[in-house]
Amino acid sequence: MSQRKPPWLRILCPATCNTAHLVPRRCGRCREWTAVYTGGNVEEVYDPGILMSGRDVTTALLLERRLTRIVLIGNSGLFHLQDVCGARGIQTDGWYLAEHVCHTTPVSNKPFRLPRRPRERPWGADIAFTEEETKEFERIWRNPSWA
Ligand SMILES: [Zn+2]
Repeated sequence: MSQRKPPWLRILCPATCNTAHLVPRRCGRCREWTAVYTGGNVEEVYDPGILMSGRDVTTALLLERRLTRIVLIGNSGLFHLQDVCGARGIQTDGWYLAEHVCHTTPVSNKPFRLPRRPRERPWGADIAFTEEETKEFERIWRNPSWA
């Protein structure tokens, strides 16, 4: 009981650009930390651990926990939640949050991390020139028409 606040709650429930409408809150009954969805008419309470594998998702389904999917919005670092109806709409490579049930072990305690943005490559790093093109480039480079 009264575990420490999971540090990734500030990523899951950011103070700004909170597109998933998640708010960190201690459960009023069991005092565990939860992520509360506040974007709908009814608040939905999730355990903060992220379900990241088929095994986690299967466990949650066997325990009949309601799931919501974390959907990343491109490479923006933003995400929103998408309701999942039972086993339908479950993809094994997805990330999910499972419904919080008081006084039960969370399905997952895995922290939430945003994927790294793909690193920008220096221009032309993966462009292969033919020998002819290289010669043509060198010719133009040495004798620019604007000189
Ligand atoms: Zn609780």
